[in-house]
Amino acid sequence: MDCLFCKIVAGEIPAAVLAQDTGWLAFEDIDPKAPVHVLVVPKRHLADVGELGSDPQAAAAVLAGVGAVARQLGLTAYRTVFNTGAEAGQSVFHAHAHVLSGRNLTWPPG
Ligand code: AMP
Ligand code: ZN
Repeated sequence: MDCLFCKIVAGEIPAAVLAQDTGWLAFEDIDPKAPVHVLVVPKRHLADVGELGSDPQAAAAVLAGVGAVARQLGLTAYRTVFNTGAEAGQSVFHAHAHVLSGRNLTWPPG
């Protein structure tokens, strides 16, 4: 399958990997939108958060990965985002949690 994040999981494309476990991989976003911007992906290919939710083991793995990244980086405040669908900003169709921190990320803004 021609999937960028599957290739990163397989080690076929390099990434700045922070941590991983059997079900998840965390690596730095190549185009960071905040001082801390990490992506946590299931190792299994699932297209978006809806598909991720249909695999409870993979869903739990991704959330465990988010927590592990936060602990590893000592984050006390961070935002976790799943974009779903191109109109919502999804550009890679392998589910991923964005972990953002290091600037004001309150929502709604303002
Ligand atoms: P989304 O737009 O929600 O699908 O998020 C995809 C994210 O993947 C974007 O924030 C991109 O900057 C990031 N990205 C794209 N290619 C790479 C790559 N090769 N390594 C790390 N992050 C990437
Ligand atoms: Zn994939």
